Parts: sequence; C-alpha cells; structure tokens
Amino acid sequence: MVNLKAQYNRLKPEIDAAIQNVCQEGAFIKGRQVAQFETNLAEKIGVKHVIGVANGTDALQIALMALDLESGDEVIIPAFAYAALPEAVLLLGLKPIFVDVNENDFLINISDLENKITNRTRVIAPVHLFGLTAEMDALVDIAQKHSLYILEDAAQSMGSTYFSERIFGSSGTLGDIGTTSFFPSKNLGCYGDGGAIFTNSDTLAAKVRMLANHGQTQKYYHEVIGLNSRLDTIQAAILNIKIRELDEYISRRVQIAAWYNEGLGNVKSIIIPQVKFKTRTHAFHQYTIIVEDGTRDQLKEFLTENGVPTMIYYPLPLHKQKAYATKDVLYVSEQLCHRVLSLPICPELTSEQQLYIINKIQSFYKS
Ligand SMILES: *Cc1c(COP(=O)(O)O)cnc(C)c1O
Repeated sequence: MVNLKAQYNRLKPEIDAAIQNVCQEGAFIKGRQVAQFETNLAEKIGVKHVIGVANGTDALQIALMALDLESGDEVIIPAFAYAALPEAVLLLGLKPIFVDVNENDFLINISDLENKITNRTRVIAPVHLFGLTAEMDALVDIAQKHSLYILEDAAQSMGSTYFSERIFGSSGTLGDIGTTSFFPSKNLGCYGDGGAIFTNSDTLAAKVRMLANHGQTQKYYHEVIGLNSRLDTIQAAILNIKIRELDEYISRRVQIAAWYNEGLGNVKSIIIPQVKFKTRTHAFHQYTIIVEDGTRDQLKEFLTENGVPTMIYYPLPLHKQKAYATKDVLYVSEQLCHRVLSLPICPELTSEQQLYIINKIQSFYKS
C-alpha cells in the first residue's frame, strides 16, 4: 500500500547522516533532536505545545490521563475507527460510548452524538478518519454547551486543516488536546514507532510531560502515577528531515485522490470520496471507496490477483469487537464495514500504476 523504500531512497543521504549524527552524539534518549522536532512541528501546525511520545496509542492514553477523569466517566468515540481509542479509554477505567458515523465522509455523526450525551459524559473524541477533520464547529458548540473536553485523534489527518470563521488551524490543534502517530505508513511517518500530543494549554502540556515521564517533574520524585513514553532521538532526527516534505506528500495524496475520482466517477457501483470542501482540506491518508453491497470482497480478490494491494479499513466496527462489544446498533458503521475498500495512495504511486488500478476496477464492474 505504501512504498516506504522509494521514499527512503530519495532522502537517503540526509537520513543516513542524521542517524549517524545521533549515534555519534550518543544521546539516544532525549537527545537535542527531540526538542528540535517538537519545535519544528509546533511551528508547522501552529500549536503552542508539541510533546513527543512513544506512539499514537500512548499519546491517546496520556492525553486522557491529563484530563483528570474519574472511573466510569464517559468518552464519546466513533464506532467506525481504529481500536487505539477504546483501548486507552477502557484501560483507564473509563467508559467508551460508541457513536455512528456519516456515510458520506466516515466521520462522527453529530446528531447521534447529541443523543448519547449523559450526565457522565466528559470527553468527545473525534477521529479524523482517513485524513479529514470532523465537523469541529458543531463539536465545539456541543462541548461548550455541556462542558466537555475535545480530544482529537489526528493520527491520520496530519497535514490537513480546518478553517471556518470561528475555528481554524491544523487538524489536531482545534480542541483541548490532540494526538498523532508517526507510524511509518502515516502521513508523517518515522522508521519505527512514534507519536505526539498537541495542546495550546500550558497546564495540560505540563501534565502531559509529567505523565509521560513517570509522573515526575523532578527526578525520583513522583507526583502522580505516570508511564514511560518517549519519542526516540533517532526517530526525531528522521522526522526533522521528513517534516520538510510533508506539504509535498499531502499535495501528492490529494492529486492522486482527484485522479482516482476522475477515473472512477462514472462507475455506477462505486461511491467516491469528496475531495474539495468549503471549510476543510483533506490529507487523504487513505483513499476509500464505498462499493455496491456484496461486491467488495470479490473486487478485492480480483485486484489482488492483478497485483493491486488494497486494504479494508475497517472490517468490523468497534462496538462489535469481542474485546469491547456492546448491544448498540450503529447502522452506518456496520454497513460501511461490508462495503469500504481503500486503494493505494502513497505519494510515490506513479500515474501509470494509478491508471492500471483504475482500468482494473473499471473492467471488474463491466464484466
Ligand atoms: C495509527 C492510529 C493510531 C495509533 O497509532 P500507533 O502509533 O500505531 O500507536 C491511533 N488512532 C488512529 C486513528 C490511527 O490510525
């Protein structure tokens, strides 16, 4: 799905030198490159604090811990998303409340969300799935009305923006606290695990730093129960190089998405994603189509046979997972799991490869 080797080969001299620097300096933990990257990223996305952590799942857990919630407090999350969020919620003794998503953009559904608010609700946690930011104006209105925190999972939306009259900025910096992941295949990926937390609040930033560092501000004096979660120096050094390429990667992704839409727009059995929006830019972490019910698995198999890798994000909604099953009926999320298919969209995909993929999909639905 992603051609990480080609990307590395393009940046090889710089990346190799950066890794060697870290090794020669010997500051493998909390080396200067980590603070440098935190500053670079904070400037890039326009947020006061960026705190590097070990991965995107830790980022979610630490962000939730920083909000000082009580056992049984409810965190609202979309049911059509990745498992990291319900995991973090449940490990902390909080209660995930699953909400359906919109069929047209895969994002948290505002009216279902409003129906699920109770007097135990404390946090709304939108997942900006596939690279598109959820409807922040509506979310901020609801959060203000009910005094709730907004925790944004921006693991897939790095490099996308939201710009209404009232709320504008980079995805992940629009609520109280946001998180991302630098997993290799993400929009801004490192060469191992990595993640970060964003906030404009000095208080939350200080708490996050303390929590990620064993709950201590002074060495060997532990104020709260924390954990050990650090962004590696080597990963930070790599990210300092790759961050310069981020805008280019994103515009390639958007271009590829637009070309897919041109090529597939006339296929009746496929619903293509929207590319242009009034108040948002899409980062196209994934290009995901919705296909006619009952044809998805055959299409996937056909593409595999023809050498085209595709993925199903996601085959089962969160409220149906054995580990966190509820009795909820969330119709759109359940239907989408049978019908979605994500096509290759890495920045290195060539136009010839893309044309081949489009032709194969066209021929599948013609026969
Ligand atoms: C990748 C991802 C995560 C977790 O990131 P890791 O770095 O793999 O822990 C969390 N949420 C979403 C939506 C993701 O796509």
